[in-house]
Amino acid sequence: MKHITHWIGGKPWAGEARRQGDIYDPATGQVSGTVDFATTEEVDEAVGAAAEALKTWRRVSLAKRATTMFAFRELVKQHTEELATLITQEHGKVASDAAGEVARGLEVVEFACGIPHLLKGGYSENVSTGVDSYSIRQPVGVVAGITPFNFPAMVPMWMFPIAIACGNTFVLKPSEKDPSASLLLARLWAEAGLPDGVFNVVHGDKVAVDALLTHPGISAVSFVGSTPIARYVYETGTSSGKRVQALGGAKNHMVVLPDADLDLAADAAVSAGFGSAGERCMAISALVAVEPVGDELIAKIKDRIGKLTVGPGSDARSEMGPLVTRPHRDKVASYLDACVEQGGTLAVDGRQHPVTGGDPGGFWLGPSVLDHVTSAMTCYTDEIFGPVLSVLRAPTYEAAVRLVNDSPYGNGVAIFTCDGGAARRFVSEAEIGMVGVNVPIPVPMAYYSFGGWKASLFGDTHVHGAEGVHFYTRGKVVTSRWPDPSHGGVNLGFPVNS
Ligand code: NAD
Repeated sequence: MKHITHWIGGKPWAGEARRQGDIYDPATGQVSGTVDFATTEEVDEAVGAAAEALKTWRRVSLAKRATTMFAFRELVKQHTEELATLITQEHGKVASDAAGEVARGLEVVEFACGIPHLLKGGYSENVSTGVDSYSIRQPVGVVAGITPFNFPAMVPMWMFPIAIACGNTFVLKPSEKDPSASLLLARLWAEAGLPDGVFNVVHGDKVAVDALLTHPGISAVSFVGSTPIARYVYETGTSSGKRVQALGGAKNHMVVLPDADLDLAADAAVSAGFGSAGERCMAISALVAVEPVGDELIAKIKDRIGKLTVGPGSDARSEMGPLVTRPHRDKVASYLDACVEQGGTLAVDGRQHPVTGGDPGGFWLGPSVLDHVTSAMTCYTDEIFGPVLSVLRAPTYEAAVRLVNDSPYGNGVAIFTCDGGAARRFVSEAEIGMVGVNVPIPVPMAYYSFGGWKASLFGDTHVHGAEGVHFYTRGKVVTSRWPDPSHGGVNLGFPVNS
């Protein structure tokens, strides 16, 4: 049984936890360890360590910060397999998927290696006679990251590489369901030469989150998780005077127009609907078939689902692993019967899907397809966050766009078509933050910013890319005059250009 504790001031916390949680192996359903839950005092200890480290880290040269980033990048790359194994053991996703999330997180580290370039300001000579002006961006201070279970390495890596490269110090509160990857990342930071206290990890639940959200020593909070908690984090954090970006849940649509390549669309729907057991914020959960393609598309999807191997993430044969916890698995499965009760059709029942090489105690649920779903059904209105694809049939392009835009969520959307004009119109009309054209999971590269619209984002900055740098820095404009000896005299007038 492993024991996971906090990482404060460059080392594991040595205290005795008053509260703990269980860590499960979703492929067996067994408890594999315990994780300490931070109290307000332990959060205060971590913030104190980060505040102390900030005094020097914010003054460390850009060259040195970049060198540390490069060293961290190499170490994460070397430990990709180890990180991926930890993720599979606690999250359940298959090993290749876990390695994929580490690779995508690394792209943000690589982006942060360019911090000297990213923090370049502007300079204007002679904005007034003998007066120069320049702009700089400075760190905001101690910042916190609160992250979800579904990407225990990648989502924290959306945040801390940029925050740290910008000269801030960081306190991470990862998901209590899969906390181990964050500790390995903390060790790798230490090995890379990051000074003690620049990166800290506190584990826990609402108690730890609330302590971070109200702590006077925290200047900014990045959150990724479900919409109700994102809204709560945004409201609580901003009312405590903090800068907050809170990314919420999703209900991502994939619109298939009648002229689409249906084999490509079926491949994409299955990959994006069931990859990582649908536990991705960019997973496709609502497939909108613009008639008459519905029946043919569903037949192709069924055919592909029949060939999918569901089993333990550690087994190289598995394409889809278990769900993260028993209650989550049961909640996801409950939508299947609910849909039928509300008038939909269960086209593929994931409860019947064979599990290859799996322990019967695991949190298994195979891929399901619900057909003839309407916008009033709970399988459509709720974020299910599991391997369930709801198919809605739209009579026209306009009806499909209405569905997309009427959704309260606005994270990702995809259109499948061979008509460039229709795709272009869709890109313009969709009220969604990330749009894919014949690409089902349009996750932006690290040098663009990731984030949704509407109930998928509270706050106004997306993560990583230029918006990430913006979020973790404050702009300052300096107006400077070095008078020459001939200049002088008092002037009480407002400073205007002459
Ligand atoms: P969650 O909202 O339950 O938890 C996220 C974080 O908040 C965790 O660290 C958790 O400990 C904490 N938390 C949970 N309940 C809390 C409470 N009552 N008060 C304070 N803190 C609390 O989300 P999850 O189940 O871990 O992750 C899945 C969700 O995350 C899905 O809704 C998914 O769409 C979303 N997600 C969104 C994005 C995005 O980019 N928009 C990315 C990944 C995941």
